[in-house]
Amino acid sequence: MARYRDAKCRLCRREGMKLFLKGARCFTDKCAIERRNYPPGQHGLNRGKLTPYGVQLREKQKAKRIYGVIEGQFHRYFESAEREKGVTGENLLRLLERRLDNVVHRLGFAASRREGRQIVAHGHVQVNGRKVTVPSFLVSVGNVVRLRPNSKLQARIEDNIAAGRGQVPQWLELDVNEKQGTVRSLPLREDIQIPVAEQLVVELYSK
Ligand code: SF4
Repeated sequence: MARYRDAKCRLCRREGMKLFLKGARCFTDKCAIERRNYPPGQHGLNRGKLTPYGVQLREKQKAKRIYGVIEGQFHRYFESAEREKGVTGENLLRLLERRLDNVVHRLGFAASRREGRQIVAHGHVQVNGRKVTVPSFLVSVGNVVRLRPNSKLQARIEDNIAAGRGQVPQWLELDVNEKQGTVRSLPLREDIQIPVAEQLVVELYSK
């Protein structure tokens, strides 16, 4: 699966806010938003006012970038969200939040979603006792997500959990000693604390 491999901090600068894509560095004064909080590129400082379409586009880009998803995949999430019952925007965020790389991050095993993606793809994570290497795997209620017992990453995960910068959300339950988390329920909108107005994403795709 293709994915964005260029400088991550450019993405935050483009959105004008911290998207927390790089783990610990995001909390230091090396953060590019702290140093150069204007859009990247030659004309970064000269960008004009956003049109209504531009506002919707930026919200969609922000959601994509926070979860590290490319356009085609993001659009498929939207189509799935539309087919589900309920509010499409919330369904969309709920699907993204259920991704295994995000869950590994939200449990504190990884300092960022990007690190979560790497930990999963490199085969360090089990779901219900079976190795899963697909970062986009969607967890369900009752799933137990744990670090593989003989993983070489035990120490790194312990450090990440100890440094835990965010609280584990209510829909997940963390057992620090076992280094495992259980999905207690599906996430609600209030559990998903990302700065995205999902309704604008729905309006964009509904044109
Ligand atoms: Fe974004 Fe983190 Fe880079 Fe700051 S350090 S610009 S929050 S990715």
